[in-house]
Amino acid sequence: MKTIIEPFKIKSVEPIHFTTREERIKIIKDAFYNPFLIRSEDVLIDLLTDSGTSAMSSAQWAGVMLGDESYAGSNSFYRFEKSVKEITDMPIIIPTHQGRAAEKILFTVIGGKGKYIVSNTLFDTTRANIEYSGAEGIDLLCSEGKIPSLVAPFKGNIDTDAFEKFIREKGSESIPLCIITVTNNSGGGQPVSMQNIKEIKSLCKKNNILLFIDACRFAENCYFIKKRESGYENSSIQDIARELFSYADGCTMSAKKDAFCNIGGFLAMRSEELAVQCRNLLIITEGFTTYGGLAGRDLEAIAIGLKEVMEEDYLHYRIRSIEYLTEKLTAAGVPVLKPGGGHAVYLDAKEMLPHIPPNLYPAQALVAALYVEGGVRGVEIGSLMFGKYDVNGNLIPAMMELVRLAIPRRVYTQSHIDYVAEVIIETFNNREKIKGLKIEFEAPVLRHFTAKLKETK
Ligand SMILES: *Cc1c(COP(=O)(O)O)cnc(C)c1O
Repeated sequence: MKTIIEPFKIKSVEPIHFTTREERIKIIKDAFYNPFLIRSEDVLIDLLTDSGTSAMSSAQWAGVMLGDESYAGSNSFYRFEKSVKEITDMPIIIPTHQGRAAEKILFTVIGGKGKYIVSNTLFDTTRANIEYSGAEGIDLLCSEGKIPSLVAPFKGNIDTDAFEKFIREKGSESIPLCIITVTNNSGGGQPVSMQNIKEIKSLCKKNNILLFIDACRFAENCYFIKKRESGYENSSIQDIARELFSYADGCTMSAKKDAFCNIGGFLAMRSEELAVQCRNLLIITEGFTTYGGLAGRDLEAIAIGLKEVMEEDYLHYRIRSIEYLTEKLTAAGVPVLKPGGGHAVYLDAKEMLPHIPPNLYPAQALVAALYVEGGVRGVEIGSLMFGKYDVNGNLIPAMMELVRLAIPRRVYTQSHIDYVAEVIIETFNNREKIKGLKIEFEAPVLRHFTAKLKETK
């Protein structure tokens, strides 16, 4: 088999700024061992997130120039609406400035005290918007999804038995909505099978619960269905997407992910009654119904990006580049979450750094070590992000201590990824030298963004 090449040529480039190891030791210390506090110009390969960091295509940039900036009834809106309808087949499409704005509107209408919103795993902004409404967010991930080293095809599935049990316990009246995150971002970028979505749909229908899709990475999920689920090997991504959305009553989406845009999102649904309430809020917080917080040019870029993301050459390269890095690391003995996800590689810091206890944040220490070794920026998904304190002020650690290396879409080449593998393997070979970190300052909520840490002796 021949090498899988990047399915694009490069027309415009952005230089990378190189730093020395000595400089990086000082930079990470001055940034209090928190990657969010490092300036991007001091980063060589930036794997902090795949959100809003995609490279737009020449067609998207051309679309930007076509943007119709009319306040109402803009042509760009109609092109955007058509593009979303072609994928979701939903009659009502509401643009928002990003994914969380769609969530805020949906859960303000649907949520509220005494209600439960069920999911495979809620993304952190989704959970925050549910909880802000007074409702409770419930993750019912399948058991395979909870074991990092276990290889299974659809580790993002909902545990249907647990869902049924939950409905029996709480009563369906208290569960207005179930939202399936495809792929499961907080759970390793793992996909959800069509079979699972069908089963959840029938459970929801029987119990009068709305089913929504958090569609941020729908195309990556559809590609996994094509490759891993029998009966779909000859279907197009577009057909798989249509079927997937056919089971849903609506969806939320961040265009900063699978639409290759730097900003944007939307809310789509079938119920006109629900849409009336959503549009009322949209006008207060986002803007008129044909722009929802976006410029006409953004709507154009989304309309085009949504088509490009379903091209199989692209998805093949995309998923393969994650798998390629996962394989290289596995061959060198580095503990990683398996199988590779759709948008990121996750290092298992608990396994890699047994000499650092959870209260000295092993995954954050690994983030810092990767930066010092090669200027690679990742993010901790462990006890700094999800840890809580008990009544005595002792840390209740997170279930896993992971470092997420999210790969921006169409941005880095194979040699960049080879370099990342070398940096990780070198760091792994010197892992005994990595020291734990102590928190010096933390905010009461979402502390990982602003926390200041210090190296322990
Ligand atoms: C990024 C993301 C969101 C939120 O979207 P924003 O555009 O960042 O507001 C919601 N759900 C998932 C799964 C995401 O990855």
